[in-house]
Amino acid sequence: MKIVHYPHPILRHKAEPVLQLGKEIEILAGNMLELMYEHRGLGLAAPQVAQPIRMITINFVGEAEEKDQELVAINPVITEFSKSIQDDREGCLSFPNLFSRVRRAKRVKVQFYNLKGELMEGVFEDLAARIWQHEIEHLDGVLFIDKMGTVGRDSSKKALKEFEEAYYDAQKKGEIPKDLAPKF
Ligand SMILES: [Zn+2]
Repeated sequence: MKIVHYPHPILRHKAEPVLQLGKEIEILAGNMLELMYEHRGLGLAAPQVAQPIRMITINFVGEAEEKDQELVAINPVITEFSKSIQDDREGCLSFPNLFSRVRRAKRVKVQFYNLKGELMEGVFEDLAARIWQHEIEHLDGVLFIDKMGTVGRDSSKKALKEFEEAYYDAQKKGEIPKDLAPKF
């Protein structure tokens, strides 16, 4: 399993709800956490590992040892967005080394199921709220480049071109199927 990069089309698919918990989902969650830590991320969504289901992993401080900061969220939804806004730098494991300011709600209320199938609810602020918004958008095929302002978009142009070239190179080498069209 590995993290797929923009402009892989799976990143633009709408992911399906998880209907059944069990060993398979637990193993996937474990693998996603491992990959997330390996790449020093704070969050990872299943579509980023080419699994089109509504599951995300988070560690709010990005430290594998800090298990109380870690969670696996199944079928997460944001039920409330604050009117107040935060504006800060954001990155994404599907866009290595690309960072840009993105405006987000400062506070969100989130509902999700844990791996035991228990319904969980919480209110999150600042960076934690940013992570939730970013990861849940992945489940709907929305990427942080869609959320950048014009300045962020302009300054990301070159990096995006490079990701696109890398995608075509990988297709040439046969690492990505030749008929799998990129989606921008
Ligand atoms: Zn991301």
